[in-house]
Amino acid sequence: MKIYIKGINDERFHRPIRLISNLFFEETELSFTPEDTEFEVEFLIEDTLDSVVITTRLIGADDQVFQAKRQKNLQQIQDEKERFKQIKNTVSYVYLTILQNYTGIIQKWGILTGIRPTKLYHKKRQEGLTEQEIHRMFKEEYLIHDEKISLMQQIVNRQLDVIPDLYSLKNEVSIYIGIPFCPTKCAYCTFPAYAINGRQGSVESFLGGLHFEMREIGLWLKEKGIKITTVYYGGGTPTSISAEEMDMLYEEMVQSFPDVENIREITVEAGRPDTITPEKLDVLNKYKIDRISINPQSYIQETLKAIGRHHTVEETIEKYHLARSMGMNNINMDLIIGLPGEGIDEFDYTLAESKKLMPESLTVHTLSFKRASEMTKNKHKYKVANREEITTMMDHAVEWMKKHEYAPYYLYRQKNILGNLENVGYALKGQDSIYNIMIMEEQQSIIGIGCGAASKFIDPKFGKITHFANPKDPKSYNDGFKHYTDEKIRILDELFASSPSL
Ligand code: SF4
Repeated sequence: MKIYIKGINDERFHRPIRLISNLFFEETELSFTPEDTEFEVEFLIEDTLDSVVITTRLIGADDQVFQAKRQKNLQQIQDEKERFKQIKNTVSYVYLTILQNYTGIIQKWGILTGIRPTKLYHKKRQEGLTEQEIHRMFKEEYLIHDEKISLMQQIVNRQLDVIPDLYSLKNEVSIYIGIPFCPTKCAYCTFPAYAINGRQGSVESFLGGLHFEMREIGLWLKEKGIKITTVYYGGGTPTSISAEEMDMLYEEMVQSFPDVENIREITVEAGRPDTITPEKLDVLNKYKIDRISINPQSYIQETLKAIGRHHTVEETIEKYHLARSMGMNNINMDLIIGLPGEGIDEFDYTLAESKKLMPESLTVHTLSFKRASEMTKNKHKYKVANREEITTMMDHAVEWMKKHEYAPYYLYRQKNILGNLENVGYALKGQDSIYNIMIMEEQQSIIGIGCGAASKFIDPKFGKITHFANPKDPKSYNDGFKHYTDEKIRILDELFASSPSL
């Protein structure tokens, strides 16, 4: 979709205009000349010192004209950055309004295109706004619908129940450990996930680097007296490695990390049922792993085949019961709405199967076409449900969760997500994942160790975020893990040296 944009001279508005366009159309291209465009949108920005008035006009292919206008009072705003943000939001506001009128598609998240809506909610709360004030602001300024604001409010309250000291955990850290191997690669996947078969040598050298990183980071944390809030083993599938390798890895954690006994939560993703064995469950028990994930995604066999997961539905159920019988008492299961070939009936079936298992938490994802996935590269091969069906499936998920006493406790959005919906983590009472809340709400640094592990360093004093990524492929990781460890320690030294309470 190519759209002719007139009247926008400040390039800083291009990004919000593109993001809003992408909510309505696939692969939007903005053009500043009229050639080969599908329709044109003209903006008129009248900026006086006290207020800004933005008018927009859309002329469709059939010469139908749509208009939207908004005035924003800027009298109280002194800060230039904040002033610009208000104008930018006003541009988004009129543009969203006009596209909603033109297409008939309603965006329940309004102009909010970011990944973490609840983070904004927390921010407003920390600024001292009441729930009513936040609600009004989200509705009037961001055009977010009541249902989504209530969802955010419910999640934020729940998070603060689970982690009452959420806003003061900035002087602790969480650790993410990335193990980049899987039995096979799923079609929608863009995680670092390399087929484990035949790469035993590379697994071994990868683990050598990983142990090194754990020792060095652990030592640094001990020296500085910094506590770990949560640890999360992800990937890939961390249970793809052998039971002996897992044993050595967790032993390293116990030896190297400070005060492991008092870490609030340790999760190991065992996403692929075909990697779970009694020996590995014994190892997880030995190290008192609190939480694991066993991910069905769907209980329809043809779907699993279509997305490249080479295990059976029966195996998911069987491994779930095995884990349960061996003492795992906090199991998460991921489901995906909108998998190829699936409609409402198939998703309802998956929900009905979930009822037979009742895991402690269920994470409901909506399929997203990530740029680098096999599915996106061969999009024509994968038939997915339309926007209305996807929305209905999400509604069914919401109803089902409520009926079975699962409450939403974290949410995030992605680009190119079907129906512009969201991914929501649900949990039974007291079974919420603390790590998932920490990663979403960005209240403390998360140190990424291992392949493809992204670190997010949050300045304890100013909240500024610094991203740092380890390489995604095992070869580059093996070549450079020392350098990446040094770099992270350098960043940590800078951040925590300036922390007021250290
Ligand atoms: S199991 Fe997870 S990490 Fe592995 S290929 Fe599938 S989606 Fe990717």
